[in-house]
Amino acid sequence: MSNFEIAVPHTVKPGAKVKLKSIATLPPDAIKFNKKSARAQIAANALEMAELAKRLYAEDKRSILLVLQGMDTAGKDGTIRWVMRGMNPTSCQVHSFKVPSAEEADHDFLWRNHIAAPRRGNIGIFNRSHYEEVLVVRVHNLKPESRWQKHYGLINDFENLLSQCDTKIVKCFLHISKDRQRERLQARLDDPTKHWKFSLGDLEERKLWDDYQAAYQDALEKCSTPFAPWHVIPSDKKWYRNLVISALLKKTLLEMDPQYPQPESDYAGVVVK
Ligand code: AMP
Ligand code: MG
Repeated sequence: MSNFEIAVPHTVKPGAKVKLKSIATLPPDAIKFNKKSARAQIAANALEMAELAKRLYAEDKRSILLVLQGMDTAGKDGTIRWVMRGMNPTSCQVHSFKVPSAEEADHDFLWRNHIAAPRRGNIGIFNRSHYEEVLVVRVHNLKPESRWQKHYGLINDFENLLSQCDTKIVKCFLHISKDRQRERLQARLDDPTKHWKFSLGDLEERKLWDDYQAAYQDALEKCSTPFAPWHVIPSDKKWYRNLVISALLKKTLLEMDPQYPQPESDYAGVVVK
C-alpha cells in the first residue's frame, strides 16, 4: 500500500458503469485498523492536514472543494465533524444545501453553488450539493425530465470550470446499506436528544430508496470525470468512513504540495524597533 496508509476502495473511472448493490458498504475484511486505531490515525492525519492547509492558505493560489453526498443518516455531518477536526476555521468553510430559497430558485440551479465555491487558499465543503439537482429533483419530479437530464452535462461543465481555475474537487458518496439506515433512523427515534435530527419525511424518503439508488448510480456514472471522479466510501462503519475520507483529503493535500510564498523582498537583517 502507498504511504497514505489506506486507499479509497472504489473510485469510479470516467465512463465506467456503477452497480451500487455490488459495492461494499462495510470495510474490507483485510483491514488492519479497528475503531480505536482508526481514531488515532484520523487524529494524526488531522495534525498533518492542519499544517498543509496552513500552507495552502499562505500560498493563496489554489483551493479544495470536498463534496459530500449520501442517503439520510449516511453521515455527512459526522464526517465533517471528525475529518475537519483541528482545521483553522478561517480557511475552511462548510456549506449545507437545503431546499432552495425563493431567491436561489429564481436563478440557474448552479448559482448558489458557484458563489459558495471556496476562495483561493481555502478548503470548502459542500454538505449536499449541486448533485441534489439530479437526485431529489429527479426522484420527486421537481422539474421536468427534459430539464434535469441536462443537469449532468452542466454539472460536468461547472466542475471543469472550477478545476481549470485551480480548485481541486474531491467528491465522496457515502454508501450505506438500507439496513444500516433503518438502524440509524431508529436510533434517532429512540433517543430524545436525537429527535431534532429526525423528521417523519425521512420515512417517506426511505420508501424511495431504490429510486434514489438508481439516481445516485446515474450521477456517479455520468459525472465521474478525469478532473472530478466520484469516490464511493463504504459508510456502514463510521470509523472506516471517516478514516478513508481523512486519508483521501490528506493525500490530496500532499499531492498538491502547497508552498509558502516567497517574501516580497529579502528581509534578512531587518529588525523591528
Ligand atoms: P438535511 O440535509 O437533512 O438538512 O435536508 C436538506 C433537504 O434539502 C434534503 O431533503 C434535500 O433533498 C433538500 N434539498 C437540497 N438541495 C435541494 C434542491 N436543489 N432541490 C430540492 N431539494 C433540495
Ligand atoms: Mg435530514
